[in-house]
Amino acid sequence: MMLRMTTRAILIVCLALLFTAVASFGQLRTENVILVTLDGARTQEVFGGLDAEVFRSVNKNFTATAAYKNYNAPTAKERRERLMPFFWRTLMTKFGSIAGNRELGSQAKTTNQLFFSYPGYSEILTGQAHDDVIKSNDHPQNPFPTILDRLHAKFAAGPNAVAEFSSWDAFMRIATSKPGSFVVNAGYESFDTDDPAMRELFRLQSQVLSPWPSVRHDYFTFKLAKAHLQKHRTRFIHIGFDETDDYAHDKNYERVLDSLHMTDSWLKELWDLIERDPRYRARTSLVITVDHGRGNTTSDWSDHGKDVPEAQYIWMAFVSPDIPLRGEWRDTETVYQNQIAATICRLLQFDLNSVDTGSGKPIKRLFAEK
Ligand SMILES: [Zn+2]
Repeated sequence: MMLRMTTRAILIVCLALLFTAVASFGQLRTENVILVTLDGARTQEVFGGLDAEVFRSVNKNFTATAAYKNYNAPTAKERRERLMPFFWRTLMTKFGSIAGNRELGSQAKTTNQLFFSYPGYSEILTGQAHDDVIKSNDHPQNPFPTILDRLHAKFAAGPNAVAEFSSWDAFMRIATSKPGSFVVNAGYESFDTDDPAMRELFRLQSQVLSPWPSVRHDYFTFKLAKAHLQKHRTRFIHIGFDETDDYAHDKNYERVLDSLHMTDSWLKELWDLIERDPRYRARTSLVITVDHGRGNTTSDWSDHGKDVPEAQYIWMAFVSPDIPLRGEWRDTETVYQNQIAATICRLLQFDLNSVDTGSGKPIKRLFAEK
């Protein structure tokens, strides 16, 4: 009797331990994460679509434009679905969820108080704001290890398992504290490759010039990243789009809308790639977010920075075989930009907080037990 009780007790303890292990770390299906950022894409357009007041402020005849005809509709829901049809009708409905719609009681914010790009991306990629150190977009090489650096070391799977492809050349500095260890490609940079599609894209990007010397067209960034994903099994990649920010600074609202629409079509192309390729299908998580918001009025919508406090409001979307949430978050705790890094690492079974105690914690709601 004594022996049987002991055996039973051991069995119960073992089962409890197993359950705890499974609940805390095991059984995640995610093996790869793709992070996509849309520079300075406002919550106002992402959740509400075309903003007629803003459009009117830059063009009195805005109702005659192709963009108005393409994206206007009576309700916010219809407008955003016209602007980003794949994102709203498919990705956020069938496969994922999004935080940051303040009208529904969901807030997402930066913890940095600067509300511009280098601090925002560094917060996303390191899990921490460093307002005392990173004070300018001209800041040299990021002194803080990013999750690309950490995951590259963790995977120990060569220079292609972790990659950065971005339109803005500053990512050559932002994405890594140790340049040269893995693929970082940004701006008009190219690298030697035997892939004919990538070689052609590198050739064309130097001829099809954008209006901004430090930024290549997002088209090249996307197609290069896609070619990389097809050629190499990539465990973590950041694809950084930029045009939504630069067209806004230029007060070219038509093209801000067109860029969001175009990016939506690339998200569909990316999703199709994930679904088709057995290396990625049902084992890849997608995180889509933004470095900062922008102003809310007709006088400051194009701007951001510490004098535009509205720019602290961001949004973040999560699509993962491990996360059952769908649609828009409602009445939830505020989530912060510094939590994105640890969340991505958690999906990849890596505890960022154990090597960097100052980084934000994984977003609890995503890993809540069902
Ligand atoms: Zn900007």
